[in-house]
Amino acid sequence: MPELPEVETTVRGLAKVLDGRRIVSVEARREDLRRAFPPDLGQRLTGARVTGLGRRAKYGLIHTDRDDTMVFHLGMSGSWRIDHDALEKHDHLLIETDEGRRLTLNDPRRFGSVDLLRTDALDEWPAFRALGPEPTGEVTGAWLRQKFAGRTAPVKAMLMDQRVIAGLGNIYVCEALHRARIDPRKAAGKVSRAKLDGLAGAIPAVLAEAIAAGGSTLKDFVQPDGELGYFAKDFAVYDCEGEPCPCGGTVRRIVQGGRSTFFCPRCQR
Ligand SMILES: [Zn+2]
Repeated sequence: MPELPEVETTVRGLAKVLDGRRIVSVEARREDLRRAFPPDLGQRLTGARVTGLGRRAKYGLIHTDRDDTMVFHLGMSGSWRIDHDALEKHDHLLIETDEGRRLTLNDPRRFGSVDLLRTDALDEWPAFRALGPEPTGEVTGAWLRQKFAGRTAPVKAMLMDQRVIAGLGNIYVCEALHRARIDPRKAAGKVSRAKLDGLAGAIPAVLAEAIAAGGSTLKDFVQPDGELGYFAKDFAVYDCEGEPCPCGGTVRRIVQGGRSTFFCPRCQR
């Protein structure tokens, strides 16, 4: 499932061919993904110039000179391809630029979404209004202490809550908790001050490393299939059940809130 680093590298890849370009055609090849494509998507985007791209949590943003922003979410299985020759079964949205570059949104499971919003009203969009701050900026140890104070929910559940911090998913929560040596089952309010300081540094660090890894594959992102945002990742605990931890312990998998949690019971306390 695409997490924040994949969305960030996708946005950076799209920016290389979209930023500053005029959109000359938009074709939705079906009516919906998770929800319907905006009926006026083609009309409002065709002829518009892209003025910038961005990301909010796990949403990609494409801004135009008509004060519209196309907001996309990759859901479980979405990805963009650039200049892909053959159309595939799950290619649901095609965008072409004035340079003849072709962008294709593919989403086999269709849990993704595409919305078109007024740029100046983005913050008012209900999905955005409910989000906490980005994990890559303002989250400090003091901020975490204040949010977690008195909370008995497991620290992992608190980090997964998009209202607390936006954009963190299962993979990078597991990785950050391992790096900060925090037991994912521990009550959020019981995590020590020193460990929360460590966590505040570990969260942006694991995300930045993943984005950097994606960025290094992005240099030649026109791969045979031109797919953006997916890259080999080297996780310390995620999907590493039974493998050794550098501390000498063994990575365990448990289920929390219906999701797999990977952690090392020896060094994560
Ligand atoms: Zn360990």
